[in-house]
Amino acid sequence: MKTEFSPAQLANPDIAEADKILRACVHCGFCTATCPTYVLLGDELDSPRGRIYLIKEMLEKDRPPTQEVVKHIDRCLSCLACMTTCPSGVHYMHLVDQARVRIEKEYVRPLTERLLRVALAWVLPRPGLFRLSMMLARLAQPLAALLPAPKAAAASPGLLRRIKAMLALAPGKLPAPGPAGGSIFPALGPPRGRVALLQGCAQQVLAPRINQAAINVLTRHGIEVVLVKDEQCCGALTHHLGRDDDALARARANIAVWLKEADGDGLDAILVTTSGCGTVIKDYGFMLREDRNFAAAAARISALAKDITEYLGSIELQPAQQQSDLVIAYHSACSLQHGQKITHAPKELLSKNGFVVKDVPESHLCCGSAGTYNILQPDIANRLRDRKVANIAKVKPDMIAAGNIGCMVQIAGGTSVPVVHTVELLDWATGGPRPGLN
Ligand code: SF4
Ligand code: SF4
Repeated sequence: MKTEFSPAQLANPDIAEADKILRACVHCGFCTATCPTYVLLGDELDSPRGRIYLIKEMLEKDRPPTQEVVKHIDRCLSCLACMTTCPSGVHYMHLVDQARVRIEKEYVRPLTERLLRVALAWVLPRPGLFRLSMMLARLAQPLAALLPAPKAAAASPGLLRRIKAMLALAPGKLPAPGPAGGSIFPALGPPRGRVALLQGCAQQVLAPRINQAAINVLTRHGIEVVLVKDEQCCGALTHHLGRDDDALARARANIAVWLKEADGDGLDAILVTTSGCGTVIKDYGFMLREDRNFAAAAARISALAKDITEYLGSIELQPAQQQSDLVIAYHSACSLQHGQKITHAPKELLSKNGFVVKDVPESHLCCGSAGTYNILQPDIANRLRDRKVANIAKVKPDMIAAGNIGCMVQIAGGTSVPVVHTVELLDWATGGPRPGLN
């Protein structure tokens, strides 16, 4: 794609990066076929190619974002299916990330929407506040029935519709909190390694059992696990809201505490059980590339970051202690399959541990979770969830496995089949408790 940035514009490293990305696009449109919003809405401006044009216009003309641009960028899930499909290697993620930051800085949203976004950015990364908000949401759930029902896929859902979506996501009861930062879980048997495990923010409130399963599997295989003290939310949630100052501050704070641990008692890897977080931590090196004080450290941390299945696939797991003939529908989270290109390791681990693993039809399509997307765009998100659940039902599973808490909550909202994390099944197979019973 031909671009017309001025030399002055290209002196800005972000614009230079956008120019490089835009020039790689050859307008072929292959990406439209796998874009969930284009598949659902059929509008070119809700396809990757359409959004690329909108972003190009905005950046090249140095124009403030228009309502039309914001509408179509907001509808993008950042699922990155387009990056998997694109034959020219267009790095859509870095382009849309830049567009979101510009929108956040320059576009004035309606007051209610601004307040909602501020609340999400403030509450979600703070486990204490998030826990409290989930308890309040649980109390307010009966009121959800009184709120207006959605009519059709709205261009921009109203506040009440979004509140209803938020209430629907609150779980029936919250589990007790997991172990605190600073905890260390020694290896059982001869030590083989030492890793940090990301504590996460929403996941540690909604499902601390996931990290407990990871700790069980790791320590059982001779890996010491540390929950690094003073670690924060990875920044993914605010990054996807375009609030990069917040996301970068969190990235820097995490890099500092992880490096201290790596340079102290040593770390072979920083493991992540929420693939949405893993994708962003693996991108810290890019996000902080212009920061003289943090660029090298960020690149080092990104290289240390691994999805739990990526790491478990690299060490030899002991033979399964119990064979199961359960049929597992493996839901490939977008952040894992498109963001990190991890497609085989989770399924291979499950198969090797005695499960019958089935691929879900249309597995490239997002389930509609996408961070805060199912709150901000509930109608599109619900349509994607229903489509995903219908596809999952075709393989008649006993359980559904996924590697991302957002997907797990989203899919569980549309099915009675138990939804568990891949590592919970691996824990069970290697001697831990059976998951999916609560
Ligand atoms: S990230 Fe997903 S929703 Fe956004 S343009 Fe790409 S394929 Fe479409
Ligand atoms: S597939 Fe790639 S090159 Fe083709 S239009 Fe989409 S982004 Fe551009």
